[in-house]
Amino acid sequence: MKNIVLFGPPGAGKGTQAGFLRDYYDLIHISTGEIFRENMKLGTDLGKLAKKYIDHGNLVPDKVTIEILKEEVEKYPDANGFIFDGFPRTPLQAKALDIYLAGKNTGVTGMIALEVPEKLLVERVLLRGKTSDRPDDFNEELIRHRFEEYYKKTEIVKDYYQKQNKYFGINGVGSIEEISSRILAVLE
Ligand code: AMP
Repeated sequence: MKNIVLFGPPGAGKGTQAGFLRDYYDLIHISTGEIFRENMKLGTDLGKLAKKYIDHGNLVPDKVTIEILKEEVEKYPDANGFIFDGFPRTPLQAKALDIYLAGKNTGVTGMIALEVPEKLLVERVLLRGKTSDRPDDFNEELIRHRFEEYYKKTEIVKDYYQKQNKYFGINGVGSIEEISSRILAVLE
């Protein structure tokens, strides 16, 4: 099984590259952010809970997020593997993912971290906000807060995978195709 963690701050291009990898390797793409957004649209209890955090640019609590991730994986017992997009975002989530996958006799193949300078990231997210229906992409202050959350809670997840020799940093500046081929060069 190929289980790829796609990592990077907001606007790094995780969603775009996840779509490419999904098609290329025939994997299941799981975006926890997307699951939360769908639930928010449907007005489910999960959506109402997630909204309280997402509307302020905060991370949804680990316990909830880990449970959602597992539920989603369980829907695909015959998958070739998964792309985890936007998960794990804390060391606790990373640990939980390892334990969970080990219980299925598999593990994380590697973490692909998309590296992009912050100035470019904010521009990209604001641009996305013009065409997407993501309310958290409109407001620059909220975007800045998401970066703070990223630097405070998420960036250290790199160390977790680095210790396992599973961390691969990729230059995330360039055309979509250029970035895809850099990722493939690492994975192949
Ligand atoms: P994303 O689409 O990955 O940018 O996620 C949008 C928002 O959903 C984030 O800003 C968080 O509030 C929340 N979220 C998504 N994935 C996670 C996660 N793994 N842990 C905590 N919160 C998450």
